[in-house]
Amino acid sequence: MICMGLHTSRRRRLTALSLSLSILALAACASSGRTGGAASSVTRAGVSMPAPTALGAAWDAERLPLAPAPLLRHADIEAQVTALTALDPSFFSVEPLGRSVEGRAIYHIAAGRGEFSVLLWSQMHGDEASATPALFDLLHYLHRHRDRPDVARFLGALTLHVVPMLNPDGAERFTRRNAQGIDINRDALRLQTPEGRLLKDLRDRVQAKLGFNLHNQNWRTAVGRPPRPATISLLSVAFDEARTIDGGRELTRRVCAVIREALEPFIPGQIGRYDDEFEVRAFGDNVTKWGTPTVLIESGPIGGESPDLALTRLNFVALLTALDAVATGAVHQADPARYEALPENGSGLMHTIVRGGRIIAGTGVAAFTADVGIAGMRTVRERGGERAIAWTTRIDDLGDLRTSGALNEIDATGLVVAPLYDEAIDEGDEITLPDWREKPAAQVVLPGQPARLLLLEERGPGRYRVRKVLAP
Ligand SMILES: [Zn+2]
Repeated sequence: MICMGLHTSRRRRLTALSLSLSILALAACASSGRTGGAASSVTRAGVSMPAPTALGAAWDAERLPLAPAPLLRHADIEAQVTALTALDPSFFSVEPLGRSVEGRAIYHIAAGRGEFSVLLWSQMHGDEASATPALFDLLHYLHRHRDRPDVARFLGALTLHVVPMLNPDGAERFTRRNAQGIDINRDALRLQTPEGRLLKDLRDRVQAKLGFNLHNQNWRTAVGRPPRPATISLLSVAFDEARTIDGGRELTRRVCAVIREALEPFIPGQIGRYDDEFEVRAFGDNVTKWGTPTVLIESGPIGGESPDLALTRLNFVALLTALDAVATGAVHQADPARYEALPENGSGLMHTIVRGGRIIAGTGVAAFTADVGIAGMRTVRERGGERAIAWTTRIDDLGDLRTSGALNEIDATGLVVAPLYDEAIDEGDEITLPDWREKPAAQVVLPGQPARLLLLEERGPGRYRVRKVLAP
């Protein structure tokens, strides 16, 4: 699987102008690897990988024009794999690993020629897609910049073994499980899923020295106090009940520390530590036990206009920075305490909290002051063959929610919060609320109810102006 042709073909392309830089790169290759003693001198020589913020900017400029990750289908993966093969067969080595339950091809792409092999797989849960496009972006980045000294050093030190979309049947349905209905990540011991067997066989074949298990976590995952979105959570995966720290876990703890430092400028306070309890049936745990110490990266909730692109971008920066730290040996200078000090993942993050409003609930009870917590889950819907990302939301909590966090906060101080009792109501309308003491509204402001609310400004006794119609 190692691209032996690369070194000679790349050498032929070198010009006199780039010769001095190449010498630096070759020197760096020679000194890289697990010992990594020369990492700091390499950095002083000016051939280091761009800083994380610059890598983020590079991703903005160079990323593949793919649909947001949850909308990617198996056909998109096949197209990307074909494109890589066509782009440079001397750089990428591509093989079909085998097929899913429903016969979809699962691919293994290798790049680099280094002694230190790394296994990266994404989407073993079909509805957890953020890292899949990041893997292709990473491969293209390495190819595009292959002659740059830092990238040449990277490729000389590492061989990447990439399996994008391990669970294509689940991805087609946008479900966690495969077509058998099995959670592949609980099948590492029994190996009843073809997808799980393919991953195990590949690991055994390449004997990777480091693994990256790439997932998405629930959109309600919170971290810290007050709770913030757990946008990325990291785990140095345990291989036994005692959570023993051996050499492999020492490495993955340091890799997690590198990722924390890399991502903190992008998402301060939004990085969590995933529970490190040993799960006897899970792949990360067993891959670690079989000899490939594994880092789990969970992409989670994030606000903004394009959350999927933001998550893919963070995965790209995290993976490239972490892998480069392994290639240079700088990972050995990382402080595992920076990983250990990350707050543990929590739960209960809201999609939206409407704070401090006077609630006219539609149930007939007298008005009262409360925060309204709206929970949201993201889904992918299909209509006429077209997929679209949608939120399903409901009122999850009501009362004093000062200890809860949300992706979106709305300050409703001085406003009235009422149910959207009539779909024809629009922002800016002047309305009089019905008297709900005799007959409650069809839809009310209570936990479990749909999150369809009116934010109202009082204009006179019983008269309101609609400030906002909230129907996320
Ligand atoms: Zn998962």
